Amino acid sequence: MSAGDEKDGSKGLPCPFEKLRPSQLVRDDTFFMSLAFNLAVDAWRIDEVPIGAVIVRAGEVIAAAHNEVERAKDPTAHAEMLAITQAARKVGDWRLNECELYVTKEPCPMCAGASIMSRLGRVVHGWGDPKMGCMGGAFALHELPGLNHRVTVVGGVLEGPCRDILRAYFELKRGNDNLGTA
Ligand SMILES: [Zn+2]
Repeated sequence: MSAGDEKDGSKGLPCPFEKLRPSQLVRDDTFFMSLAFNLAVDAWRIDEVPIGAVIVRAGEVIAAAHNEVERAKDPTAHAEMLAITQAARKVGDWRLNECELYVTKEPCPMCAGASIMSRLGRVVHGWGDPKMGCMGGAFALHELPGLNHRVTVVGGVLEGPCRDILRAYFELKRGNDNLGTA
């Protein structure tokens, strides 16, 4: 959960994306999404799918994570899941009503479910995922009529960079695999 620059991982493909340097003066959705984007860059550098997430409470970042499925050999180690666990530990409660999740890609079924189960107040995502996104892209899990918790969902914040880094990563991976290189 480092906000600083780290050395590129040795096994990963070099990440062509630079970290963003948002102004600290305006702590709006774009600012917090920039922090999530920078975590996605960190993920790429260790050859994880570049998705990052931060959780904010009262204007302060209380959790920060990126996808770690490969490293942890854990299919549940998505950025959002890791950040939600961190945030609950920090708050000392599993209820995160006063927290906002910023994530570079629209949550998948698992993470959309976890966002609802943790009672997050707000979920802000970067790129809406038409295939697997479950907060409006492919499906809207948070709009199930029986839910007694309502999470506010906002999409499309810093959409271009959040989408481009994912697309570039998968395109490079595919190219690499086609060449038969390790
Ligand atoms: Zn997920």
